Amino acid sequence: MSTLDVTPRPALDGDADVDVAIVGAGFTGLWTAYYLAVHEPTLRIAVLEAHYAGFGASGRNGGWCSALFPQSHTALTRRFGAAAASAMHRAMVSTVDEVGRVAAAEDIACDYAKGGTVVLARTPVQLARARAAAETSPGVTLLSAAEASTRCGATSVLGGTYTPDCAAIHPGRLVRGLATAVERRGVRIFEATRVLRIAPGAVTTTTGTLRATTVVRATEGYTADLPGQRRTLAPVYSLMIATPPLPRSFWDQAGLAARETFSDYRHLIIYGQRTADDRLAFGGRGAPYHFGSAVRPTFDLEPRVFAELRRVLAELFPALGDVPATHTWGGPLGVPRDWTASVRHDRSRGLASAGGYVGDGVGTSNLAGRTLADLILSRDTDLVRLPWVGHRSPRWEPEPLRWLGVNAGLRAMTAADAEEARTGRESRRAAIFARLTGH
Ligand SMILES: Cc1cc2nc3c(=O)[nH]c(=O)nc-3n(C[C@H](O)[C@H](O)[C@H](O)COP(=O)(O)OP(=O)(O)OC[C@H]3O[C@@H](n4cnc5c(N)ncnc54)[C@H](O)[C@@H]3O)c2cc1C
Repeated sequence: MSTLDVTPRPALDGDADVDVAIVGAGFTGLWTAYYLAVHEPTLRIAVLEAHYAGFGASGRNGGWCSALFPQSHTALTRRFGAAAASAMHRAMVSTVDEVGRVAAAEDIACDYAKGGTVVLARTPVQLARARAAAETSPGVTLLSAAEASTRCGATSVLGGTYTPDCAAIHPGRLVRGLATAVERRGVRIFEATRVLRIAPGAVTTTTGTLRATTVVRATEGYTADLPGQRRTLAPVYSLMIATPPLPRSFWDQAGLAARETFSDYRHLIIYGQRTADDRLAFGGRGAPYHFGSAVRPTFDLEPRVFAELRRVLAELFPALGDVPATHTWGGPLGVPRDWTASVRHDRSRGLASAGGYVGDGVGTSNLAGRTLADLILSRDTDLVRLPWVGHRSPRWEPEPLRWLGVNAGLRAMTAADAEEARTGRESRRAAIFARLTGH
């Protein structure tokens, strides 16, 4: 895992005028800048970033560039109708290829490998969920125990599902490469520039004011810090570990020969990928939500969660029992109250935003960037008619209800997994909680 150079670019120095000001240099902000610059090379575009491009979740995620959307196909169909849900799915499927196409075209060496995703069923209850997923989720096929084990040689595999619609990527390389690509197209990136306030026509930062016809908010897990946005997205943490490069003897057993990303059908999400340098990068939820939607660097490091990730990884692959993690890290996701990501543009006020991807933002942010560019440039495309465009999620409850609710949800998932392990029967807790929270 080579270290990327993240020396910050210069900060905004004084006041300036642009056509589009984008707040946040993660995937959402940078993809938006990219497609705006592609379609309208003369547009004056500036990206403002508090730290450095890729500082947020975009630079430190599990690298699943998938066609997953945070709401299931069934939930999207219920909410928006079958045609809209199918259009959303098709758009997400083509997004996986679009990311690969741009990475190749812009010479971004991000280890893109479209090996699909295998989700394992390791108990009879999980196998029932795998069967249901294969019936209800487009592009997902059921695997026998032998087929699933060949793709991912973990313990206790009873079956699973497979979808070809996912590429494993190195997120840090993609986001840093994208920043360089947008600069080549004339976009200005100001790093170490914290935005204090977003208003129609102007962005106020610690070092100057940027006047702009359109302002895009692309701040995801950090949104709550902006005035008026405290209850827009809840920052929920996901944490990861990585092993050292593993020997061929391990991979002969573990598989993932096409660099399939992998998970299983437990409730509290886990996710992994075989990196291009033959490590396992493995992550999961379970870290607490912090009161008042607080985000701090110390929250990225939760020894209890790292220990649990090590335990689960050794349970999946016993050969890793004594292998220490060489890297541990984490970061905040942005979770909307109804688990539905959205792209929004208010032309009359010149304000736009995208996000709320929960844990599925690597692919979705590319679709968001393309869609925002079309909306801002008044391009009449299929993208601007997708159901998430203009969707407004309800606001989260004020504290302490938000703190109680989000953490109760995390505990419900853990308890549901423990109950299923104990009883061998499907737990109702997770389903009840999902229904109560509307996702
Ligand atoms: C550990 C982890 C694993 C994940 N794994 C996956 C995965 O495998 N697949 C997947 O699809 N998704 C995954 N996700 C989610 C995915 O990474 C995110 O949904 C996605 O990167 C969000 O991109 P973004 O640009 O919207 O937000 P971010 O990447 O968080 O970028 C927001 C940027 O805005 C900046 N900012 C915020 N406020 C201000 C301000 N006031 N002024 C200036 N700048 C500001 C921040 O510094 C940050 O750089 C994971 C997330 C985490 C944390």
